[in-house]
This record gives sequence, structure tokens and C-alpha cells, in this order.
Amino acid sequence: MIKENITYVEQQIEKACEVSKRKKDEVTLIAVSKTKPVEMLQEAYDTGCRDFGENKVQELVDKYEVLPKDIRWHMIGHLQRNKVKYIVDKVFLIHSVDSLRLAEEISKEAGKKQATCRILIEVNIAGEISKFGTTKEQVFSLVREIAALPNIEIKGLMTIAPVCEKPEENRKYFEQLRKLSVDINKENIDNVSMDILSMGMTGDYTVAVTEGATMVRVGTGIFGERNYSMNV
Ligand SMILES: *Cc1c(COP(=O)(O)O)cnc(C)c1O
Repeated sequence: MIKENITYVEQQIEKACEVSKRKKDEVTLIAVSKTKPVEMLQEAYDTGCRDFGENKVQELVDKYEVLPKDIRWHMIGHLQRNKVKYIVDKVFLIHSVDSLRLAEEISKEAGKKQATCRILIEVNIAGEISKFGTTKEQVFSLVREIAALPNIEIKGLMTIAPVCEKPEENRKYFEQLRKLSVDINKENIDNVSMDILSMGMTGDYTVAVTEGATMVRVGTGIFGERNYSMNV
């Protein structure tokens, strides 16, 4: 089932690319595997998937230890500063940086391991009270401050769009995030690129692709519904 699901999602991404005159290889599918057992990740790996998204530090580290080393791990969930040290040299990209204090911790821990940590700035594009992420207004100053830190590289922006009934409802937010990344790029800040736009989940990833997403994060659409009462 996982194999069929991945094939389906890849086809949908391809269609969305055709519609928007983009190249399929501009878009990376991240398989969001939180709460799912390693057997399921292995199955996705065997069908060719190399990018996995997790939102809990412990779970990411546990899976990192037992799965193949060529996997690119994406930290997509809210990250506490005291846990940064466990993942800073294991993850390919941290999508969820929304404060200078967190970035400072990442910079410090990456420095200790003589590594450079790649990050995205999470923007709360719809201004939802319940969500993490910096505001559209604050993102400029935050990017400038973080860019000055050593051992950390800003690669783009990430957003979690509102839960919606119709994916089209989120188009405006995806468009806003893309425009924001264009505006930040124009500032030509050292150490900052806006190559990555991480947006779109199971319910709305095709819309996100037509608005310029370069990474989509799909969980349910690949692994099925999550059961939070079951321990991994
Ligand atoms: C869980 C999660 C996803 C995947 O959600 P689905 O609706 O299952 O595709 C994507 N992004 C983040 C940040 C998540 O926490």
C-alpha cells in the first residue's frame, strides 16, 4: 500500500508541475513518518524514498540509529532548545526555526561538532494563534539576525497552512509565502538563500506545488492515518 501511495503522490506532484510549467525534479517529496514504525519507513525507503520528516527528537534519533545512513532526515516539528544537541549533526534540514534563541542554540551546538546546520524559517503565514512560527513582519529582522551566526545556514521558508476543507482555500497563503521569500532574496543577505519553500501537506500539496513549493511534507497520504494512542 505504501508503494502505491508514493506512486500516486508522485504522479499528483508531476501533474501539478505540468500545470504550473515547473520541472518535476524541483520538488522533493518528504515522507512524514511520525508515529509510524520503522518497518513502514523501510518499505518507503525500498520504493526509493530518501527524505523523511519527523517532529519529535527522540523518535527521529531512534529511527536514525536503525535505518540506512543515506536517509535525509527533516526535523519538521517544534524544537526545544535543550534537545538541539541530539539532532544537530543528524538532520539534513531543520524546517521549524522561529526564534533567535533557538537559532543561537543550533549555531552553538553545530559549532561544537564542527558542522554547519541548514535551516528554514517557519512563518505563521495565516497568523493563527495556535501555531508556532514567526510573523510575516518579523521574518525580515529574524533572518538578518540569524544570518550573522556561525555554523548555521538559512535555506528558505516553511509554513504549516491552516486546516481547510478545500485545498484551494490555502492557495493565498502559499502565494504569500513565496512572495515573502522573493522579497527576502532581494535583500541579498550573506549566508541566506531562499531556494527552499517547504509548504503543502496531504490535503493541499498539489496547490502548494502550483504556487512554487520545492518541498512538500506528506504523511497521511503515504502512511495512512496516524494513531496517537499507539506507541512506536
Ligand atoms: C504531521 C505533519 C505533516 C504531515 O501531515 P499530513 O496531513 O499527514 O500529510 C506535515 N508537516 C508537519 C509540520 C507536520 O507536523
